[in-house]
Amino acid sequence: MVDLPTRLAPAALRPLRLPRWGALLLLAVLLAAVVVVPGRERLVRLALEEAESRAQNTLRLAVAGLRGELARFERLPQLLAQQARIAEAVELAAPARSIDVANRYLHDVNRLMGSSDIYVMRPDGRTVAASNFNQPAPFNGQNFGYRPYFTEALAGGEGRFFALGTTSRKRGYYFGAPIRRESEILGVVALKIDVDALEDSWRAADYEIIVTDPQGIVFMASRRAWHFGTLAPLPEAMLSEVAATRRYDGNPLTPLPLTPAGQFQGHELLRLTEAEGSREFMVLSEQMPLAGWTVNVLMDTASARAQAWTSTLTALLAVALATLGLAVYLQRRGRMRERLEMQREAQAQLEQRVAERTRELDELNTRLRGEVAERRATEAELRRTHSRLIQSGKLAALGQMSAALSHEFNQPLGALRNFADNALAYIDRGRVPEARENIGRILGLAERMSGISRTLRNFARKPNSHLGAVDVHQVWADAREVIDWRLRGTEVVLEADLGPAPLRVQGGAVRLQQVLVNLVSNAIDSLEGREGGRVLIAAGAEGERVRITVTDNGPGVAPGLAERIFDPFFTTKGVGRGLGLGLSISYNIVKDFGGDLRVTGAAGGGACFEITLPVPAAGILSAEDSDEDMGEA
Ligand code: ADP
Repeated sequence: MVDLPTRLAPAALRPLRLPRWGALLLLAVLLAAVVVVPGRERLVRLALEEAESRAQNTLRLAVAGLRGELARFERLPQLLAQQARIAEAVELAAPARSIDVANRYLHDVNRLMGSSDIYVMRPDGRTVAASNFNQPAPFNGQNFGYRPYFTEALAGGEGRFFALGTTSRKRGYYFGAPIRRESEILGVVALKIDVDALEDSWRAADYEIIVTDPQGIVFMASRRAWHFGTLAPLPEAMLSEVAATRRYDGNPLTPLPLTPAGQFQGHELLRLTEAEGSREFMVLSEQMPLAGWTVNVLMDTASARAQAWTSTLTALLAVALATLGLAVYLQRRGRMRERLEMQREAQAQLEQRVAERTRELDELNTRLRGEVAERRATEAELRRTHSRLIQSGKLAALGQMSAALSHEFNQPLGALRNFADNALAYIDRGRVPEARENIGRILGLAERMSGISRTLRNFARKPNSHLGAVDVHQVWADAREVIDWRLRGTEVVLEADLGPAPLRVQGGAVRLQQVLVNLVSNAIDSLEGREGGRVLIAAGAEGERVRITVTDNGPGVAPGLAERIFDPFFTTKGVGRGLGLGLSISYNIVKDFGGDLRVTGAAGGGACFEITLPVPAAGILSAEDSDEDMGEA
């Protein structure tokens, strides 16, 4: 298994890089600068244009209203002037009844028409009949000869005038019409309409309407406080002209708190400064030449500017939202890209690891193949070495056998020569019986040697064959003959304690004899050069086994050597004196008999070799019947 990288987890997502945010912020600022700031100017213009169009409408409505109101009354004075009862009342010597009729008539018409006052004046300006005859402060008897509407009508024209009523103290618009009889003008009918009601319809939150006279004096206004204010300070000459008509009846003509604040598309902008604060107005005007008025609509620009601001803020908000949207989009895209990148990296890592693992496995395979080949080579080498060893083992065995044979034959041959020498000496001396005895011994030895040779032949055929019951006494007696020869010229005393005869063991007589000769010869060798040397051969039955010991009082076998002395070719004797085969051959012979051979220390410090042999089973052939012992002396 290959581990996936842990940074695939979403929790480990990296935060967005700062430069991107910086770029976005810059973009937002640029957008705001490029789009919103110039756009704001346009938005303000649009809003002001919209305000202008509203002002235009308002102005049109206001002018139409005023015109309609004036139109409603403008023909009425002429109509009244043609009435006989009016003409009668204006006569110089008109009876009181005619005056009364005219008064009542004017009163009725005034009420019917909704005008403010209707009155009739004689050519000298004195009022003779009036609709308010029955009210406190009636016009009757008053002289309005100074009013232009009177003078104009008296001159035969249509009199029109607007002014503050000197009696009523109310602003009004006056119409005057001449009362004619043929070409003579008898007097003037005057009609006054109230402008207060008109103003009431003008009240609105975001605009003001003012009606100014040709001097720029406010006659009507949606704000009462502005009445008789001026748009600009008036020159002295103009003031005295106004005073002559008593139009405003001594009202102070103070300038309004309006200051110029620029222009918008040909319209004047005015700033109003009040205690509550300052407001900006756009001024739209229309002349009403017949009435002598200028109607002005002052449209408050605050809402337009607020609207522009709102639009600007909306645009800014839109820019901000767009930037935010862009940021979110970029962030998403960035994260998506990072995720894809990570997946790609993980995939690449996975592939790399798989490739590495495959390579490792390949290498391992190659190594294993190499090792297998190496092992095979080693095996072959081992086989070769083994066969070489077998070869050398065979050679070694051959050498061992040759050495053993020469060893086994040399001893009897030495004895044989001695017997032959003796026999010759006896023959020379004519002692035939002794010579015969020696020759008999020679024959015995020759027989023994052929016995050895037969044994070897038997070994070659069947190593463990021809085991029979052998008497230790008999074997020892035969061995003694060989050993006696060895004892000559030494001080060694050889003793035997074999117990009662016969002492039968399982084995072969010649081979057991060979073992005994070997052990006793070794003991004699170990005593060489020592005084009082003794060798004891003892034997005895112990249950199912017979124990034969060869003990000497020589130097004994050193503890470290006890294990090795039974190995073939192990010897401590000098060159040419021992081959180290005696004990090895003896050990194998005893083992073939089913017995055991071991060395222990003797009580006096010498060596003790112990042979243990099984007693022969019942019914087993005696040694005399075996091949091995045939002809043995
Ligand atoms: P060889 O007699 O040719 O040396 P053996 O196999 O008969 O060969 O003996 C091996 C060795 O065992 C001898 O060289 C000797 O050191 C030791 N050995 C055998 N018998 C005795 C003994 N009775 N006392 C001391 N050493 C002995």
